[in-house]
Amino acid sequence: MPKVKPVLPLPTFLLVPPLPPGLSFPRLVGQIFDWGEFLKGEMATLSMDGPYELTTEKVDEVVTRKSPGNYGLGYTQNNTFYVCYVGRSDDDINERLKQWVGKNLNRYTHFKFSYATSPKMAFEKECRNYHDFGGKDKLDNKYHPQRPNGTNWKCPVCNIYD
Ligand SMILES: [Zn+2]
Repeated sequence: MPKVKPVLPLPTFLLVPPLPPGLSFPRLVGQIFDWGEFLKGEMATLSMDGPYELTTEKVDEVVTRKSPGNYGLGYTQNNTFYVCYVGRSDDDINERLKQWVGKNLNRYTHFKFSYATSPKMAFEKECRNYHDFGGKDKLDNKYHPQRPNGTNWKCPVCNIYD
């Protein structure tokens, strides 16, 4: 009988890198670490300016153009912005942001925003933001971003509108 070399299982701790503080724990499937999810989670970004304090004065100061755009609402802690809600405006991001002033005061203390070159670009970016930050499970958003009535635009990430 040939000697069978014992196969040692790879220690699972080698598969899980240490997490920077504040980063949510990545998805674990059994003992298999999903690097794709991990990298996506760490690199998820709103690609917006800010954070700025969510006040009427600040919105008027920094959001100076009447334009479609995207925004994220949340709070800051230890120099990190935690996004709680993502949204868009199809025509006036300044006006939309000001509608949020004073709502959910403990949670929506700051905002980030970006202009969009068209309502369609704003819709597609909102979809990406929504999915990148965990959708309705993680965000306060109760629903998937809605496309404007009369359009056949599709989400660039999921098949909800297929
Ligand atoms: Zn989607």
